[in-house]
Amino acid sequence: MSEANDCLFCKIIAGDIPSSKVYEDETTYAFKDINPKAKVHVLVVPKKHYANVSELAKDDPAELAHIAEVAQSIANDAYNGSFRLVFNTGLDAGQTVFHVHAHVLTGEKFDE
Ligand code: IMP
Repeated sequence: MSEANDCLFCKIIAGDIPSSKVYEDETTYAFKDINPKAKVHVLVVPKKHYANVSELAKDDPAELAHIAEVAQSIANDAYNGSFRLVFNTGLDAGQTVFHVHAHVLTGEKFDE
């Protein structure tokens, strides 16, 4: 899998930085967010490095669809199947790690 220099999530995928793994397959890795914003907050990432969801959608739309499937499966296992799926894209949207990641937020009812 291609890795980017100094990419936090590439290092997590490689096992060089510890993470709390939720799911893994050949192309995709999912782990608990270190600063959860919901009862269940998991990050789902492609193992191959893409900076953001637009790059991923352009270069590997099947992987983007797979990430949605993995998110559904996490929500099925952790809760009742309801979940939020968020891709912060760009600095002004709050993206802080430039390895595309889906925030899967679930485990509770969201009122807003
Ligand atoms: P962003 O702000 O959309 O780029 O999301 C980055 C997310 O990565 C944030 O929700 C952070 O809490 C999370 N995060 C940062 N470092 C780690 C880590 O080492 N392990 C797990 N999650 C992390």
